[in-house]
Amino acid sequence: HIYLDNAATTPMAPAVIDAMTAQMQADFGNASSTHWFGRQAHTVLDLARTTLAASINAKPEQIVITSGATEANNTAIMQTAHARASLGKHIITTAIEHLSVLKPLAALEQEGFRVTYLPVNDAGEISLADFDAALDDDTILVTMMMGNNEVGSVMPIQAVGERLRKHQAWFHTDATQAYGLLAIDVAALGVDLLSVSAHKLNGPKGVGFLYRGDAVTIAPLLRGGEQETKRRAGTENIPAIAGFAAAVDLVTPAEKAARQAKYFGFKQQIIDALTAANVEFAVNGTVKPGNLNHVFNLWLPGCSTYAVQTNLDLAGFAVSGGSACTAGSLEPSHVLTAMYGADSPRVSESIRVSFGATTTSADIAAFASALIKIVTKLRKH
Ligand code: PMP
Repeated sequence: HIYLDNAATTPMAPAVIDAMTAQMQADFGNASSTHWFGRQAHTVLDLARTTLAASINAKPEQIVITSGATEANNTAIMQTAHARASLGKHIITTAIEHLSVLKPLAALEQEGFRVTYLPVNDAGEISLADFDAALDDDTILVTMMMGNNEVGSVMPIQAVGERLRKHQAWFHTDATQAYGLLAIDVAALGVDLLSVSAHKLNGPKGVGFLYRGDAVTIAPLLRGGEQETKRRAGTENIPAIAGFAAAVDLVTPAEKAARQAKYFGFKQQIIDALTAANVEFAVNGTVKPGNLNHVFNLWLPGCSTYAVQTNLDLAGFAVSGGSACTAGSLEPSHVLTAMYGADSPRVSESIRVSFGATTTSADIAAFASALIKIVTKLRKH
C-alpha cells in the first residue's frame, strides 16, 4: 500500500519514535513534581519548548503546548473573542478555514459576534481589497489560515499582518499545514497567535502548540493546574512533546525548501502522465511553486470522488476526498464549494492527493498509472 494522504496525517519518523520511546522508558515523571523524576521530565519539556520557539523565531515563554491544532485554534478564537468583546464584536476569517476554526466562529455568532467570511477565487485565494473592505473599528480578531489543507493555496499573511500593525485587531493564523513546508518568522509576519500540530510533520498525534505574542492576554481554555505558566492546565504529555521537538528538528529551513521542490515535481509528474494518456482532468486551485506543494487536488470529470477513491484503495493507494475530518460525512467540501460554487461537478468529482517525506517518484509513477486505468474504466461505464 502506498500512502498519499499526508495532509490528513503523516507516519512518525524513526527519530521521533526513538525520542518518544526514550521518554516512555526513562522520564515518566510528572513535570510539575519537584523531586528528581519531575525535574528530569521538566528538563525535557524545557528543551522541547526551546526547539519549538526557535522554529518560528519566538521566545520559549510564548509557546503554549496543546493537544494539537484543534485546541490551539479553539483557544485562540474563543478566548480572544471573550477577552476583547468590550472592544468590538467583529471577526474576519476566510470561507476555506478548517472546521476547528469555523465551528468556534459559528458558536461565537450564536453569542452575538459578527463574522465576515472572505470569499476565495478559483485558485483558493482571498483578495486584499475584500479584506480592506471588511476591516472596521469593530474588528477584534482576524483568523486566516497560512495555507489550505485541501487545495494548498497560501494566504497573504504578511500583507494582512502589515495592515493590522496599527489596528486593534489581533491576528491569528492556523499554520497547521504550512509549518512543515514554509519558513515562518512570527515577528516578520506580524501575527499575534499561531497554531501548529505535530502529526502533519511526522510527529505524534495529539500534540501541537499555540504561539502567543506578548500583547495577547487571554484566559486559558482548559482550567485546572498551573502547567504551561497557567496558560493551559493538564499534566504535560512528555513523550509526545519530545517526539514533537524531534520532528521539528528534522524540518530545517533547507529541508522545507527541498520538500517543496520535490512535491512540486510530483505534481508535474502526475500532470504529465495524465496528459500523455489523454485523460481529461483539471487541477482544483493552481500549481505554483509558492503554494503548499504537498497538497494536490484533482477534478476527474464524470468520475465520482467515492468511485475513484475506493478503486484506488483497492489498487493499494490511499488518497482522500477532501479533509479527513469530514471524510466520514457525505457533505461536499466547503473549500471546493467556496471556490467553484455548490453546483459545480468539481465538488463531487475530485480527489486530494498529498505527498510526504517518504513519498518517492516511483510511488507517483505507480499512482499515476493506477489512476489512469481507473478513470478510463469508470468512464467506459
Ligand atoms: N487546521 C488545519 C488546516 C488542519 O489541516 C488540521 C488537521 N486536519 C487541523 C487544523 C487540526 O489539527 P489537529 O489534528 O492537530 O487537531
